Amino acid sequence: MDYSCQANYRLRSNKTMTPMNPPKSSQQPSCADPTDTSLSVQQARDAIRSALQPIEDIELLPLRSALGRVLGVDCVSPIDVPGHANSAMDGYALAGTELPTQGTRDLKVIGTAFAGHGLSAGCGPGECVRIMTGAPMPRGTDTVVMQEHVERLDTQQVRIDARHRPGQNVRQAGEDISAGVRVFQAGHWLRAADIGVLASLGFSELRVRRRPKVAFFSTGDELRSIGETLGEGEVYDSNRYSLYSMLREAGVEIIDLGVIRDDRQALGSALTEAAARADVVITSGGVSVGEADFIKELLQGVGEIAFWSVAVKPGRPLTFGRIGEALFFGLPGNPVSVMVTFRQFVYPALRSLASGHWPSHLALEARAAVALRKRPGRAEFVRGILERDGEAGLLTVRPAGAQGSGILSSMSRANCLVILSAECEGVAEGEMVQVEPFSTTL
Ligand code: AMP
Ligand code: MG
Repeated sequence: MDYSCQANYRLRSNKTMTPMNPPKSSQQPSCADPTDTSLSVQQARDAIRSALQPIEDIELLPLRSALGRVLGVDCVSPIDVPGHANSAMDGYALAGTELPTQGTRDLKVIGTAFAGHGLSAGCGPGECVRIMTGAPMPRGTDTVVMQEHVERLDTQQVRIDARHRPGQNVRQAGEDISAGVRVFQAGHWLRAADIGVLASLGFSELRVRRRPKVAFFSTGDELRSIGETLGEGEVYDSNRYSLYSMLREAGVEIIDLGVIRDDRQALGSALTEAAARADVVITSGGVSVGEADFIKELLQGVGEIAFWSVAVKPGRPLTFGRIGEALFFGLPGNPVSVMVTFRQFVYPALRSLASGHWPSHLALEARAAVALRKRPGRAEFVRGILERDGEAGLLTVRPAGAQGSGILSSMSRANCLVILSAECEGVAEGEMVQVEPFSTTL
């Protein structure tokens, strides 16, 4: 049977989207403006979640290629692991009833059991077997005394004292996983240990879910691709590269549609083409209220719009909707806004599409090394540097530099985001704040 990727799959959803920002917010609201109708972070996430239909298509992959993929079916163990009772130590196998309860007992060594080789001879009264770690327990034995606890009298005799208990140092058949047990559920995200577990069960291939396909492009007349010479007022298109990298990290299939000029027709056909080829379409730029910002207006024509403004900094003009059956994210153009909104809204959506589970980033508490200024109204994601305080081992965080939404170098210097709620009115030096680290190492 061919389980390979089914190329023309679409999101199956008949949900229609109700625009969530009232019409007046199509004019850019001011953050101090009480009529600001931007969605809260949670409202925006909820709107995205409710539009998602997790991918269910299955493909068959060799075990090694399944790392970071999502199981398409439940995995039931066909065998016991370990398959037989075996020794957890190098030592001597014997019947627990042979152990002395006081003093010592001398036992005859009748043979040697190696890992991978059963010993045909059984063990009788007054006898033991030299055994290596992983070797099957010989018939008549249920206990292993480690070799360091045994006095070797000669090549055929050992002396054992009274400090041992019956059954010790033996791994029982099925003690890790027993046959028939459901080891992983469909939707499980496969990590390295899982691949090891599946190998221990003998799976050479796995049925996994197809990865989400994501088509993306940058918008802007000022953008030049790397390799070209910059003219006056032009900038290199960095969003395509940071987006590409974040999509790689998210483990999706990527369709890079390049740069599209600020031209209604070109943008309209790019959106339609992207939606025809992908489960998710992402653009950067052109979602603000400038005279060359066409994305929102075009989305209303070729698709449906759910929201176009979120009370966050950076990234307020984040736009979300649908084109045909593809989900659409119109990210702002500023390079940091792209990265922050991707992390906070797009990444969990892609994971959720792939697995059916909406993940939340790990958040830690850290002490603010300096005061952080903030006005209430919008949630803020501050680029921070998280460090371990040498003496106390406490985590501290300080801003990674200038916080303008075009200052990508401070994003690159940062190793975390400090999460300040919409209500927060600033943070005093020494106050505890929530941070989301970018990686699991410092
Ligand atoms: P926009 O949202 O299109 O008004 O863009 C906001 C700012 O982000 C402008 O300064 C743009 O030049 C800049 N910008 C937009 N797209 C990109 C991109 N792909 N790479 C780098 N900067 C960009
Ligand atoms: Mg633009």
